Amino acid sequence: MVTEDLERRIRICTLCRLHKSRKNAVPGEGPYHAKIVFVGEGPGRMEDLHGVPFYGAAGKFLNELLKIAELQRHDVYVTNVVRCRPPENRVPIDDEIEICTSNYLKKQITMIKPKLVVTLGRTSARALLGRNVVMNEEHGTLLDCTYAGVRFKLFITYHPAAALYGGNTRQKLQMDFQKLGQITKEMK
Ligand code: URA
Repeated sequence: MVTEDLERRIRICTLCRLHKSRKNAVPGEGPYHAKIVFVGEGPGRMEDLHGVPFYGAAGKFLNELLKIAELQRHDVYVTNVVRCRPPENRVPIDDEIEICTSNYLKKQITMIKPKLVVTLGRTSARALLGRNVVMNEEHGTLLDCTYAGVRFKLFITYHPAAALYGGNTRQKLQMDFQKLGQITKEMK
């Protein structure tokens, strides 16, 4: 399957209940030859309106964080665990995650074959690692991961939206992205 076909299928997907309340499905954005893939949780209000991942406030902060890591957004692939906005921005339910990842995330990872996947938040880390992740203990760590038969390094960090609610998550994210910058330089 070519990548455009997959994105077209995602845009018209009706496999789970989330399609009923969405305005636009959000397949992902970036080049399929990207070496690095960022995976968030699911579209929010702005992403739902525009059909583009990380378009709203969390996306603006993600763009700042990418600069810290000296990465260009157009060089990386950005996507989510689920492709339709959960109502009231609730956390996606397990069956929604299972349907969306087995039909779409796994296929995208198989097509892109990234060297590195950066999980943004708990939902995404749990979906890729298949286990619960305690963010306070595991953020900033680099692991070996095999997902959909593809082997890559996986870097765990917080969801950028977590920094918008105060506390010290903003600083932790900034430090994680500094580390990520070192990791990606060593990868080249
Ligand atoms: N939050 C996410 O997890 N993904 C987006 O695309 C936007 C906000």
